[in-house]
Amino acid sequence: MQQQENCQTLAAVAEAPVWELNTGSNKIQAKRMSGRFRTIKWLTASTWLIFFVGPYLRWGDRQAVLFDIAGSQFHLFGVTVYPYDVWMLSFVLLFFAMLLGIVTVLAGRGFCGYFCFQTVWTDLFSWIEARMEGPPRARIALDATPWNLRKLSIKLSKHVLWLTISMITGVSFAAWFTDAYQLWVDYFTLQAHVSAWIVLLMFTAGTYLLAGFMREQVCFWLCPYARIQGVLYDNNTLLPTYDEDRGEPRAKLDRTAENQRVGCVDCDQCVAVCPTGIDIREGQQIGCITCGLCIDACDSVMDKINQPRSLIRYNSLAGILGDRPRRWYQRPQVLASAAMIVISVVFVVYGLNNITEAELSVSPKRQPTYVLMSDGAIQNSYQLRIFNKSGADNNYRIEVDGFDDMLVTGNGKPLLVEAGRRASALLYVKVSRE
Ligand code: SF4
Ligand code: SF4
Repeated sequence: MQQQENCQTLAAVAEAPVWELNTGSNKIQAKRMSGRFRTIKWLTASTWLIFFVGPYLRWGDRQAVLFDIAGSQFHLFGVTVYPYDVWMLSFVLLFFAMLLGIVTVLAGRGFCGYFCFQTVWTDLFSWIEARMEGPPRARIALDATPWNLRKLSIKLSKHVLWLTISMITGVSFAAWFTDAYQLWVDYFTLQAHVSAWIVLLMFTAGTYLLAGFMREQVCFWLCPYARIQGVLYDNNTLLPTYDEDRGEPRAKLDRTAENQRVGCVDCDQCVAVCPTGIDIREGQQIGCITCGLCIDACDSVMDKINQPRSLIRYNSLAGILGDRPRRWYQRPQVLASAAMIVISVVFVVYGLNNITEAELSVSPKRQPTYVLMSDGAIQNSYQLRIFNKSGADNNYRIEVDGFDDMLVTGNGKPLLVEAGRRASALLYVKVSRE
């Protein structure tokens, strides 16, 4: 069965036309069109609002989520995580890696098309561009026009808006690592730490260049995820697909002809809306970010000419070849990734519920290993180290369990340890020789 699937895959690849790669020589001027997938794209993109507003949420007397690098602490809604507990981070990373893997196996570059910051910011920048400069034809004409006052004012306004968004992106990123409200004060009074200025500069320049100018070229040439995701696809992965059987041969619509077989009417709307400038009718291509905008475009054309939708639709190779696609629970990659996700969640929940308020380490002093006292007793000494993770200053009194006649000295006063600090003390334990 597997061999047959592979043969079918190879046959499909062999039949595929030569792909044309967008090398960035022509600027993509994508048309914006409403539709189901455009709405989904707006909704998923809006989850990024948490990036902008998150740092301003408070929990008690401090920022709800704060990555305090200087203090080596991570505050998450009242829970403080110290480097001791950083093992949880590996499970958080595992969770997101497996989630990304599952999304890719099931729906190709769904992450790229709907969530990726590069795609979302580029979409926002191109929306501004369309608002300021008009539809693609007007934009191309404006670019070709010699510089004049009108062109200067339109271009200047667009770049000012792009730079403003880029700067807000930079400030928002920095705000996750320090008090967000104080950060604005520090920037405006030029008192911000040098690292805050570097973050602001790097993110402003990076966002402006990547979302304003490089756009889809980042997906083509820079993104490592775009390189590896192809190996995660299988014959059951859902991808935007042109229905060649229904669409070919292409022919312009002849409204006067009776009983005309209507396939692809060669209107090129699917190409016009594509943010990476590809023609999905040529088959799956490396530049397709699975955004579904070509589906919206083609569906709207089909609606206008009273033809059924879905000439372009999400489909799998198995679906194209007429096989029954496997369901998610019949696919080992999905099940394995889902199991890893469950394990990651269990470990993180366990970790968060079992964060101790203090870490205590006790090490015996080896030189000398023991002391024989004048009264015949034996005394050992121990070095205690206490790390206060409770988030408040605390007094610690040390008690020792063991023999009935054991005497402990060196812990007369409670040991004061400030929040997030370590303290050490020397402890003597004396016990009769017997
Ligand atoms: S081909 Fe369609 S799904 Fe792929 S990137 Fe272009 S518009 Fe998006
Ligand atoms: S939008 Fe649909 S009908 Fe128009 S060219 Fe693309 S596939 Fe053909």
